[in-house]
Amino acid sequence: MKEIESFKLDHTQVIAPYIRHAGRLKGPVGDVVCKYDIRLIQPNVGAIPTSSLHTLEHLFAVYSRDYLEEEIIDISPMGCRTGFYLIIFGEKDVVEIQRIVIEILKRIIDTDKIPATTAKECGNYRDHSLFGAKEYAREVLEKYQGKKV
Ligand SMILES: [Zn+2]
Repeated sequence: MKEIESFKLDHTQVIAPYIRHAGRLKGPVGDVVCKYDIRLIQPNVGAIPTSSLHTLEHLFAVYSRDYLEEEIIDISPMGCRTGFYLIIFGEKDVVEIQRIVIEILKRIIDTDKIPATTAKECGNYRDHSLFGAKEYAREVLEKYQGKKV
């Protein structure tokens, strides 16, 4: 079986929230693609409920493109519901990614509408919680205050 980078991470030794540079690939024509572990919740201690995580996913999808419009490939929730993986063209310092994540979390707190919540636009449009998404964003931001990467 192939070794998976995130399976080698000792999840008992990390302290969330944090941003981790989780991978760097160079394609056949020289493009660099990087992956970041955006951990919002302490692994094996908490997990974001699916409705809140789903709403965070929609909001991260929209807001992240304001900061990484040409670079972003994907930002998707982790199955363990403790954070997101961000995949971008090129390479950025984790401090820069953290700055962007904090900006997005601040915007989420002020959001009053979830984007793309019709049956046509979303695969499970009934399963959203803006209230929950905002509460988790607030909780993560509070933990970030005064904390370095
Ligand atoms: Zn959706």
